[in-house]
Amino acid sequence: MPVIAVDGPAASGKGTIARALGRHFGLPHLDTGALYRTVALAALKSGADLDDGAAVGRLAAALDLSLLEDPALRDSATAAAASRVSAHPEVRSALLAFQKGFAAQPGGAVLDGRDIGSVIAPYADAKLFVTARPEVRARRRCLELRAAGRDADEAAILKDIVARDARDMARTDAPLVRTADSDLLDTSDFSIGAAVQQAIDMVSARLGRTS
Ligand code: C5P
Repeated sequence: MPVIAVDGPAASGKGTIARALGRHFGLPHLDTGALYRTVALAALKSGADLDDGAAVGRLAAALDLSLLEDPALRDSATAAAASRVSAHPEVRSALLAFQKGFAAQPGGAVLDGRDIGSVIAPYADAKLFVTARPEVRARRRCLELRAAGRDADEAAILKDIVARDARDMARTDAPLVRTADSDLLDTSDFSIGAAVQQAIDMVSARLGRTS
């Protein structure tokens, strides 16, 4: 059964696309960013030093999955903290087995993140690298927050996104990269519906199926 890897920068729409691919192909989906956000939230709540790899690594090893339901998981402060804790090899290695196990389940799977095609499932049958211009990503995130009744400062969101991408690309352990065997999907000029259809077409072509 197929394994589909979806990677890309912050707020690129890869989560929405990965969920839609899961529904379309009947595969379980894992949002790996949520795991790093959970570690970040545990660190913020316990007052741990985000730069202390050993300390946040221990939090990652004792991952509290109930935090996945915490509304603060999606806050920009949590996202920024996630991109700091995720740079520590201790954190990445603590989360590795769970993600590899999810990818290797017999029925196949869809995972989205930053290192799925490069580290977690380099053998994936289809790999998408989903991106969009930073200004477009910031605009979308801003509209999403406002639709949920929350305040959103578009310029601040853009700054956060650019900083997070830079950190995710610059780290030594499993940086955000586009692998040579991935299909590039730039959603800047697509509606979400069109982007999802394009993703289904690209994956179907890789799997040798008609979409
Ligand atoms: O995808 P999301 O924006 O929720 O990810 C939050 C942060 O978690 C990212 O900025 C990145 O630093 C980290 N992450 C990662 N590897 C993954 C998924 C997320 O380092 N596979």
